[in-house]
Amino acid sequence: MAARPAPYLDGLNPAQRAAVEALDGPVLMLAGAGTGKTRALTARIAHLLMTGRALPNEILAVTFTNKAAREMKERVGRLMGETVEGVPWLGTFHAISVKILRRHAELVGLKSNFTILDTDDQIRLMKQVIAAASIDEKRWPSRQLAGLIDAWKNRALTPDRVPASEASAFNSLGTELYAAYQQRLLDLNAADFGDLLLHVLTIFQKHQDVLEQYQRWFRYILVDEYQDTNVAQYLWLRLLAQAHHNICCVGDDDQSIYGWRGAEVGNILRFEKDFPGAKVVRLEQNYRSTGHILGAASGVIAGNEGRLGKTLWTEAEGGEKLRLIGHWDGEEEARWIGEEIEALQRGGRGSPPKSLDDMAILVRASHQMRAFEDRFLTIGLPYRVIGGPRFYERLEIRDAMAYFRLAVSPDDDLAFERVVNTPKRGLGDKAQQKIQATARAHGLNLLEGARVLLAEGGVSGKGAGQLRAFIEGMDRWHAAVARGDNHIELAETILDESGYTAMWQADKTPEAPGRLENLKELVKALESFDNLQGFLEHVALIMDNDSGETEEKVSIMTLHGAKGLEFPAIFLPGWEEGLFPSQRSMDESGKKGLEEERRLAYVGITRAKELCTISFAANRRVYGQWQSQLPSRFVDELPEEHVDVLTPPGLYGGGFGAAAPVAESTIESRAARADVYNSPGWKRMQAQGGARPAAPAARGTVIEGTAFGLGDRVFHQKFGYGAVTAIDGDKLDIAFEKAGPKKIVARFVTSADS
Ligand code: ATP
Ligand code: MG
Repeated sequence: MAARPAPYLDGLNPAQRAAVEALDGPVLMLAGAGTGKTRALTARIAHLLMTGRALPNEILAVTFTNKAAREMKERVGRLMGETVEGVPWLGTFHAISVKILRRHAELVGLKSNFTILDTDDQIRLMKQVIAAASIDEKRWPSRQLAGLIDAWKNRALTPDRVPASEASAFNSLGTELYAAYQQRLLDLNAADFGDLLLHVLTIFQKHQDVLEQYQRWFRYILVDEYQDTNVAQYLWLRLLAQAHHNICCVGDDDQSIYGWRGAEVGNILRFEKDFPGAKVVRLEQNYRSTGHILGAASGVIAGNEGRLGKTLWTEAEGGEKLRLIGHWDGEEEARWIGEEIEALQRGGRGSPPKSLDDMAILVRASHQMRAFEDRFLTIGLPYRVIGGPRFYERLEIRDAMAYFRLAVSPDDDLAFERVVNTPKRGLGDKAQQKIQATARAHGLNLLEGARVLLAEGGVSGKGAGQLRAFIEGMDRWHAAVARGDNHIELAETILDESGYTAMWQADKTPEAPGRLENLKELVKALESFDNLQGFLEHVALIMDNDSGETEEKVSIMTLHGAKGLEFPAIFLPGWEEGLFPSQRSMDESGKKGLEEERRLAYVGITRAKELCTISFAANRRVYGQWQSQLPSRFVDELPEEHVDVLTPPGLYGGGFGAAAPVAESTIESRAARADVYNSPGWKRMQAQGGARPAAPAARGTVIEGTAFGLGDRVFHQKFGYGAVTAIDGDKLDIAFEKAGPKKIVARFVTSADS
């Protein structure tokens, strides 16, 4: 042990310190939220380095998200000062697997420049595999096959290992299609997400020498969020740790929320069996949250059976109680949260001003984000969506990336298909089918197939010249990649020479300017990478897109994406039956599903340091239909002593009977609504002085169809004043005084009459 106390150990409590200092042999840190597991894990890395037990590249540290990896890298950096270059093998399972797989790709039949497919590509490929097997995709949808194959991969099952008992899956063709899909991937020199891990596992299992090399290499293994590892990840870790047992895993069974993706909380419970003599450390002091937040979270999770159970306490007794509030509908909820955020930012509500970076909205389902995004765009509140529909999923970005992918890897047929006729090159379906057939007949990739077809004179008319230019362009760009030309300039060249940028410049739709902006952003993003391949890999792997931003922003993310994170103020909207707990998870997994949802509630509440606000709405639009909602059962499970029920003046019209008649008559089912008001959640709101919220203002808020009439004068933030000339559902034809006629979704305009 170091004789001198080390600064990175300062401030750790004795239990944490024990976990940090027990460097050799297996260690399991099993403890509740906010007890400093991640912090101790980070200190442990610093300790390994400072005591000289390990060099940076001898440490394998696995985190659950890229964001967590980034934070841990920064923390280690801070703890160590300038002494360490960084820990190269600190990352997610996927990021680490890619690195390993690139080195040994040939052992599983890939080349080292293989492409990583995203979900879109994966589905496209599945469709082809299904079509090739002459199966009716309508009855047997590709998404279902994708789900099945993913689940097998999570369980470390290659096609030959799928148990016979599951042979009936997907019309008894599941395994066959799985094998065909894997073959297609190899032909394309591609791997999907699940493959990254599975291929490495296969390599470890079949090539003892490679495994031993990594066992020697990774002398110390550390794993955060161990409760959410799936079978494949578990086996992967166990193989690596087998030789030396220097593995330290931290986790919390109450935060296991990825069962639906094949995570096995049993992995954590089995740790002591797998690694006999493991030192088990329990942490009980929570350093993150106030007493009320902790009390509320503990109250909810107590509803689960079969927990390991743990004690949690905090020195930050008291603080503010959780705030609970019911709203009329989802739009109203978004509006109220927007106002609350601005109030917190101004330093209202008696506490010092908070930065937007200190606030987060955690939703159960990503479709809930839309209401917040719309609202925040309207009021100009900066926000970031973490892990949601994101920049790199936009059409123009995906097109551009396909060009880059093809330039890096000419085998990437999916990328070829995406861009060969984008922009239009006179190569319609017929021409593309000919390319496919030629490629198949000669056993070539599509790019080469196209070259042969062209040489044979198989493409006629305008298409021929354009295809030639496309192929020549690809050859040039591929050569530039191979030469190692500056990748930023190359990216711009590709977008220009291919005609892709020009396509959007010529486009007159309102989205085109935004798309051109995005393409510029894309080129800008390349600056932080050494080459195109590194960039493509990064994009394929990222789960969040908030790097490099300076402006402060509210975060919007799913509860799943919030794991391990903390914020001073948390908003938890949509606590309604069917939404949260999610109907689907209860239908599919019954009580197990419900318990996982409850753990999700626990994760959500425990992200908050100071302030936690839970809300629910009485009405919500689901797939275009208005539905009456019941408050979540989790609302009823919140211990009363930790909760304040809010009824802010001004928003609610002052108790019952204040609802405006317009909304009364437009909500579908009165009977269902009566249930809402009879539910325990509402009753408690009333008992504690809450009131049923008034209907939103009669005009300007959309309840079933629109509240606008023909001839109404309206205002739009961008287009100014205009008059409604036609109404189609929630879309309005508006003759704007300056901007001319436009079709606008009703919620984006306000009434200018009142
Ligand atoms: P989760 O289960 O949510 O991942 P965790 O157990 O990993 O939580 P950390 O994120 O490591 O918890 O720590 C929670 C907060 O408590 C952090 O802000 C951390 O800096 C702080 N913290 C941890 N240990 C201590 C300590 N010994 N003294 C003071 N603060 C601490
Ligand atoms: Mg943690």
